[in-house]
Amino acid sequence: MSSDHDRSDHDRFDHDRSDHDRSDHDRSDHDRFDVYDTTLRDGAQQEGLALSVRDKLAILSLLDDLGVGYVEGGWPGAIPKDTEFFSQARGVRLRHAVLTAFGSTRRAGSAVDADPQVRALLDAGTEVVTLVAKAHSRHVELALRTTPAENLAMVADTVAHLVAHGRRVFLDAEHFFDGYAADPSYALSVLRVAAVSGAEVLVLCDTNGGMLPDDVTATVTAVRAALDADSAAGAAGSSPGALLGIHCHNDTGCAVANTLAAVRAGAVHVQGTVNGYGERTGNADLTTVIADLELKWGRRVLPVGALATLTHTAHAVAEVTAMAAHPRAPYVGASAFAHKAGLHASAIRVDDSLYQHVEPAAVGNDRRMLVSEMAGRASVELKAAELGVDVAGDHELIGRVVARVKAAEAVGYAYDAADASFELLLRDEAGAPVTYCDVESWQVHTSSHTAGGADTGKSEAIVKLRTGDARSVAVGEGNGPVNALDSAIRSALGTVYPELAKLELIDFRVRILDSSHGTDAVTRALVSTADERGSWTTVGVGANVVEASWEALFDGLRYGLLRQHVSPR
Ligand SMILES: [Zn+2]
Repeated sequence: MSSDHDRSDHDRFDHDRSDHDRSDHDRSDHDRFDVYDTTLRDGAQQEGLALSVRDKLAILSLLDDLGVGYVEGGWPGAIPKDTEFFSQARGVRLRHAVLTAFGSTRRAGSAVDADPQVRALLDAGTEVVTLVAKAHSRHVELALRTTPAENLAMVADTVAHLVAHGRRVFLDAEHFFDGYAADPSYALSVLRVAAVSGAEVLVLCDTNGGMLPDDVTATVTAVRAALDADSAAGAAGSSPGALLGIHCHNDTGCAVANTLAAVRAGAVHVQGTVNGYGERTGNADLTTVIADLELKWGRRVLPVGALATLTHTAHAVAEVTAMAAHPRAPYVGASAFAHKAGLHASAIRVDDSLYQHVEPAAVGNDRRMLVSEMAGRASVELKAAELGVDVAGDHELIGRVVARVKAAEAVGYAYDAADASFELLLRDEAGAPVTYCDVESWQVHTSSHTAGGADTGKSEAIVKLRTGDARSVAVGEGNGPVNALDSAIRSALGTVYPELAKLELIDFRVRILDSSHGTDAVTRALVSTADERGSWTTVGVGANVVEASWEALFDGLRYGLLRQHVSPR
């Protein structure tokens, strides 16, 4: 044991957590339950996902706000960016989460106190170290190229060394389920040696993600029985009450189900990632696991009230990773409580619970009514209420709106993807049209020429608009027709409506729709516009891309002014 480590150990816990907030490990073990997030380590293995140190610090804060018990920050020593992250994370005040460092056991055939990777784990200065160890004898021989006995010594030495330096140690038993199937006594001996050496949690990992819930139930049950029998026998080398944990990958589509199966069989520590990020098909989605545990089993795993911030957390993390949150994600997805069928809407108007398995507010999500050609009067009424437009009781108006939506969708509009366009339609039909100017005409021209070997295309638009008695004609230029039109509208109206400067065109999608009338296919454009408070989407349909885009663009700006409560001038 080297003394330079000992010196720094006294004040190694830089995270200032008040006693009041101390949670899981201070409770007695019989009611302990750990929610352990590995978004920053295992989640970061996802194809296309790259996190900077600053991104990781932002996600750490979001997870701490949510109230998870542990956040695995990365692999110090192995990844330079992670070493830097741990050094910067020392200054972060955490209220709920304990930051953990991840690393592996010492190398084969070397002394643990001379192992640079183990030393980097201590230098990370975390209260908890999660140590990955091989639990499959075939992996020990083929991947680690050492003997099963030396692997056990590596686990024992490394756990004991970290514990001697004041660390709490969690053991990730890699390939545990496959290893247990191939050689149960060896897989168990890895857990036993870790527990005897001082590991606090033994995490059974389905590293290849190939298990089904039945496999997990059987293995966790057997492991638990074996470890309990050790304790009861009080034999030398028995496990002194280490807890069981679970770490699942989603290769069979069962990561969440497998995690729940393990909990049923006695695991009290669940690992996963926000939004299920991870290599291949991802890890167990921790947001789903948390909501299932709290709402279905009544098991409180977050601080009181925190579940209602789950949707916000999932979306905020997606903003940081720049990997769009899956709209169909359970509980937190944008579509998780979206209803389109008219029949559902009629029932929901009577009683919310008829077509919802839980109350969306419980996880901070919202019920959304999607108005479409499938909508009936009830959908329109509920959607209008959601938008703050009072149509209650006006049967004739509701009938007109339903008819107009059906007619528009028949020619290609899609209001379920364009709430803002629906609201403009609704206000129009309700006798309060949103009109900021009249359009006299517009045109756009795109040219292409080759300059210095590169193609440079430019578009130029001319719009003629009227506001009150004033007529304004403006020219706009852009990289494409939509940009040129956007810029022309802004220069025509910019002095009358300076609020337009706050609006930004953020997304533009076009789809050519099949037409039943032979050659005359139509184009649908969806334009997303944003201000500092959020974004909205509008739809346009036309004979070509430019016509469809003009409508969606113009409506996006109209809606943006409406949102800012601008009155027509
Ligand atoms: Zn993993």
